[in-house]
Amino acid sequence: MPGEKIFIVEDEPDILEVLTFNLLREGFEVSTAMTGPEGIRAIERELPDLILLDLLLPGVDGLDICRHVRAHSQTQHIPIVMVTAKGEESDVVLGLGVGADDYVQKPFSPKELVARVKAVLRRSAARNSEELSQRIIRGPVAIDPDRHRVTVDGDRRELTPTEFRLLHCLASHPGRVFSRDQLVSRAIGDQVVVIDRNIDVHVRSVRRKLQPHGALIETVRGVGYCFREEATA
Ligand code: CA
Repeated sequence: MPGEKIFIVEDEPDILEVLTFNLLREGFEVSTAMTGPEGIRAIERELPDLILLDLLLPGVDGLDICRHVRAHSQTQHIPIVMVTAKGEESDVVLGLGVGADDYVQKPFSPKELVARVKAVLRRSAARNSEELSQRIIRGPVAIDPDRHRVTVDGDRRELTPTEFRLLHCLASHPGRVFSRDQLVSRAIGDQVVVIDRNIDVHVRSVRRKLQPHGALIETVRGVGYCFREEATA
């Protein structure tokens, strides 16, 4: 799990510092924001692996951020752990109701918090690997992991294992934008050191093999790539 990116939205500097310190020590990458609007913008840009969200914030509150994250296809999959004031049962109920995955109550022990974060990330990784075994049909493109087979308009296309994983990952979530980092770790694996830009070479090759439907894989400037949503129909 080290290297995974945690985004913290928290307006109290002391708590923010404790959270950041403990997560960095565990090997996570950490980015932070102290207000809701700043948090929303940064989350859309950075596409973190998990969001740690204080519920009581100035401006937009934590619940609104949660709703916003869940309402947009680029961010709706990102796990959210809420940080709530002690004894506010209603906050917990509301937060889980708008799509948070788990919560910790203040005051929390750093150890407990790190354990919660890791548990939520593990669950999310398990969901991802389950998805990778599923057969997918998106418009003209059919992907069958069991037989390692891709067809376009019924014609068989030969993809390398990396290209196959890349296409399967993108096509599993039409409309969701994957960063190059995320694609590298899912399609190529963490063991191999890859320069980010190599993923561009693989994407170009997949597009060529999907012809005449190569445009189904879109470039999202400054962020990464996504599989076109309308192809799902
Ligand atoms: Ca607060």
